[in-house]
Amino acid sequence: MGDEFDLVVVGAGSGGIATARRAAAHGAQVAVVERHRLGGTCVNVGCVPKKVMWYASETAATLERAGDYGFTLEGAGLDWHRLRSARDAYVERLNGVYASNLERSGIALYRGEAQLRGPRTVEVDGRRLQGRHLLLAPGGRPSWPQIPGAEHGIDSDGFFALDEQPRRAAVVGAGYIAVEIASLFQHLGTETTLAVRRDGPLRGFDPLLREALGEALAVDGPELVTGLTPAACERQGDGTLALVGEDGRRLEGLDTVVWAIGREPATAGLGLEAAGIAPRSDGAIPVDAYQETAVPGVYAVGDATGNDFPLTPVAIAAGRRLADRLFGGAEGRHLAYRDIPTVVFSHPPMGTVGLSEPEAAAEYGAEALRCYTARFIPMNYALAPQAVKKRTAMKLVTVGEREQVVGVHIFGEGADEMLQGFAVAVRMGATKADLDETVAIHPTSAEELVTMR
Ligand SMILES: Cc1cc2nc3c(=O)[nH]c(=O)nc-3n(C[C@H](O)[C@H](O)[C@H](O)COP(=O)(O)OP(=O)(O)OC[C@H]3O[C@@H](n4cnc5c(N)ncnc54)[C@H](O)[C@@H]3O)c2cc1C
Repeated sequence: MGDEFDLVVVGAGSGGIATARRAAAHGAQVAVVERHRLGGTCVNVGCVPKKVMWYASETAATLERAGDYGFTLEGAGLDWHRLRSARDAYVERLNGVYASNLERSGIALYRGEAQLRGPRTVEVDGRRLQGRHLLLAPGGRPSWPQIPGAEHGIDSDGFFALDEQPRRAAVVGAGYIAVEIASLFQHLGTETTLAVRRDGPLRGFDPLLREALGEALAVDGPELVTGLTPAACERQGDGTLALVGEDGRRLEGLDTVVWAIGREPATAGLGLEAAGIAPRSDGAIPVDAYQETAVPGVYAVGDATGNDFPLTPVAIAAGRRLADRLFGGAEGRHLAYRDIPTVVFSHPPMGTVGLSEPEAAAEYGAEALRCYTARFIPMNYALAPQAVKKRTAMKLVTVGEREQVVGVHIFGEGADEMLQGFAVAVRMGATKADLDETVAIHPTSAEELVTMR
């Protein structure tokens, strides 16, 4: 194979690999350029190792509750090294799976830093690749605060590289990554503070979910500190860290500070200008509804586009639709960025699809809405002492006389696995009557979603 391709892809992460493989399945000659490990953020420092850590912390919670069911457990401490090496070995296996998938698909893999040298020309390691089409899928990277001592902290990549379990940690940020890391730490036994700038984490999520999360944090942590804007991170004489707020508040005695204040597109140094692309001020690559940039034949998918849903399945879905359109004859195929389900792996997890109540009110008018809510203690806590019970919360947001369900929000055990099917229903335009007509599964938490009054 020469250095000319139907499609050249920059970035072998979620979006890049999915697009490349779908294009190859349609018969296109495809090249992929990757500078790090195959699989990108999700596989190496995102969804996958995060979910392993979440399973570990859920296991810790189950062990804690085993006594309620009559078990006597001893010596159930966590071996952080063992967890980390098993997790890393799993990720390495996945790297291998990605390599063999690319090979099996007949995709040429170029290892190294891609730099754009023209509208559809990419240079890697002194070699020039020419594409009839070019896809940019360079993903994102963690943002860092510009404050004195920030370098004493770590970001989410650093979290996955921790050799030792910290005794005491602060996680700074209000997004889902901050909530997840803080919850993981806390439930694995690290005394953790989640520090947010405003009134609480997960702004933009339905108020019921935010409220339920706040209540759950109050039960067993992590401790929530609100209104704290970091001004400095100081190394103390005893080697611990102090996080200092603009208002002078200090979180002291920390072994680790994790900055989880957001992510930014990883486009610096890519040479967008050589391809004729003007990035947004935050570095994102502007694209139209068909993932095409202002330069014909140059496309972008995934986190680097700065879309509202920086998630793996979104990058994959956008990329596959693009490949179907370019090489599979599926004219007009593209991803509509709406009704995209997402889960936050807190403890317990929460899931959300569609519009929150305030969003629905803004779109349809408050008078067109009817919301149904349920709050209850799941049966798994039936034998637990009152103090540790975490309530499940659910909300259906419906609009119009037909009561079409435009939002489903679930906080509680099993929310992560519950949501997918309801996302199908929302996408299909299900009404409250459709849910009511569905026979419940008993005894589950999910049955509440089809029995709400
Ligand atoms: C801690 C954390 C947890 C997450 N959890 C979830 C989750 O549970 N569920 C979910 O759906 N999403 C999750 N995400 C988000 C998800 O990882 C991203 O949305 C997804 O990886 C984006 O895919 P992408 O293809 O846009 O970019 P990436 O997966 O980041 O891939 C980009 C690739 O491009 C490569 N690259 C960049 N520039 C160049 C260059 N110049 N030359 C060569 N290669 C280059 C990078 O090395 C990288 O491999 C999480 C993210 C983080 C950080």
